[in-house]
Amino acid sequence: MDESTNVGGRDRLVRLLLAAGLSIAAVRWLHSGKRLRGGLAGAGALVFGFNATTGYCGVNDALDVDTTGDGEEVSIEFDETDGETTADAGATQVREHYLTCAACGEPIVAGQSRGPNSQGDIVHDDCP
Ligand SMILES: [Zn+2]
Repeated sequence: MDESTNVGGRDRLVRLLLAAGLSIAAVRWLHSGKRLRGGLAGAGALVFGFNATTGYCGVNDALDVDTTGDGEEVSIEFDETDGETTADAGATQVREHYLTCAACGEPIVAGQSRGPNSQGDIVHDDCP
């Protein structure tokens, strides 16, 4: 199961029916010359069709809604593992930021040019 799926069960069925209904409406409106209405219905049909086929909805994601129901515990475990990995990586990066220049004693921020001086200490490129 993909952890990005958040549309399932009845929600998915409803979206499938909406997609079908909107495509019929879109075709009818387009045939009768109501282009704006037909276009909007067509766009809606595409969105709901996308939700129903992929099981993913951006709105659900933004609202932290998950209608897939059972079988999501595995995904939740994956999410937690991802979070820890990210946090570790972040901590490592933060530590690297506290490199201090051996010449002026100022911290060397990521992006500043730096390099070893004649004694092999890391200093700002501008510092002697
Ligand atoms: Zn310096």
